[in-house]
Amino acid sequence: MPKGINTNILEEKIRGISSIEGLHHLHIWSIDGKEHAFSVHLEVPYDTEKRDSIVNIKNKIREHLKELKVAHITIQFDFSGESCEKKE
Ligand SMILES: [Zn+2]
Ligand SMILES: [Zn+2]
Repeated sequence: MPKGINTNILEEKIRGISSIEGLHHLHIWSIDGKEHAFSVHLEVPYDTEKRDSIVNIKNKIREHLKELKVAHITIQFDFSGESCEKKE
């Protein structure tokens, strides 16, 4: 875990974004001590794109990560009905 990054606060912020019903596999790790990478799976309704823009959701997350100087971001959407192993 890179210093100065509080994943609980980050997770709270992400959970506060509309259309996000849950999340798992939230990981932040340091690539070389300077650059950080981030990944997350977002649980969203099947028809999210009809009500909310997926691009907007991603942009909001990128905005939060910018403050933390995370350079490599991977965001996966798990739509309801999709089965994904919820492992840490
Ligand atoms: Zn994981
Ligand atoms: Zn998943």
